[in-house]
Amino acid sequence: MNSTYALETRALAKHYGKTVALRGIDLAVKPGTVFGVIGPNGAGKTTAIRVLLDIIRPSSGSAEVLGQNPRTGGTALRRQIGYVPGELRLDGRLTGATLLRYYESISGPVAPGAIEALAGRLDLDLGRAVHTLSKGNKQKLGLVQAFMHEPKLLVLDEPTSGLDPLVQQEFLRMVREARDNGQTVFLSSHVLSEIQQAADEVAILRDGRIVIVSDVESLRETAIRRVRVGIMDAAASAVQAALAGIPQLTDLKLSENGELRVEATVEGNIDPFVKAIARFTVSDLALEEPDLEESVLRLYSAPEATDEN
Ligand code: ATP
Repeated sequence: MNSTYALETRALAKHYGKTVALRGIDLAVKPGTVFGVIGPNGAGKTTAIRVLLDIIRPSSGSAEVLGQNPRTGGTALRRQIGYVPGELRLDGRLTGATLLRYYESISGPVAPGAIEALAGRLDLDLGRAVHTLSKGNKQKLGLVQAFMHEPKLLVLDEPTSGLDPLVQQEFLRMVREARDNGQTVFLSSHVLSEIQQAADEVAILRDGRIVIVSDVESLRETAIRRVRVGIMDAAASAVQAALAGIPQLTDLKLSENGELRVEATVEGNIDPFVKAIARFTVSDLALEEPDLEESVLRLYSAPEATDEN
């Protein structure tokens, strides 16, 4: 494998009896980037993350994390990783502060003041016994634990679950700062908007397969927009003919009410549509923001995976 990547998998597969959780995924995450994985429930996100951390072993294929095999990297490798599990279970009478000091003895040294600074940013009270904390506050403790020793690699499984929107925004700032600091972040999410805000690249996982790996900008280019155009002094048949055969165009509707109204859906490149209507006198033009959510949902439910797997 090519250890120029912070994280790499090759044909990584995992099955539990008859349930296939991962069907052979190839991932390559460049150092100093934020890589997001999104996918519906059961897509295999948590399974992939657990293999990367050697919590479970793959059925076949391989993984490399910071240039090492997670199976043999041991404590030295673990200390370079900050991890927040998807289902964080924290309990007990210890305070957050005491628990984090204990984690420090495992993860390696934490810069003076770092724990307090992170807790302050996330609005977390470190003096409370862990068992009295709400789900969201436990999640914050998990985040402080992952970030506090400035690991080379952060692996975060649904890190914003249970966090209120202001704290989510603060968390996304922490992720961007980590990247600017040269750290690599691998995070899974259900929520497209947070991936959009934080990630450089995104993989969409569905049913144990990677549907697409893309940078966030290109994903936007494949997005779906709705357009509405008002056209003057033109016959509906002429407009219809001009728009026929544009492959990106669907749901075309023409209506006449004084002037001609055109409504359509454009999937991907908008330019052929713009060029086609430019020959008419355009009195009005409305273009909706690309709906990334809708595009991704289409990919979730597309009948065939489009990648190399
Ligand atoms: P979610 O967003 O719901 O957390 P996910 O993308 O993280 O989903 P996984 O938890 O990786 O998905 O699950 C992938 C598939 O593997 C699912 O069908 C799940 O039921 C199955 N699975 C996961 N862990 C086990 C296990 N220990 N035993 C049997 N099946 C499992």
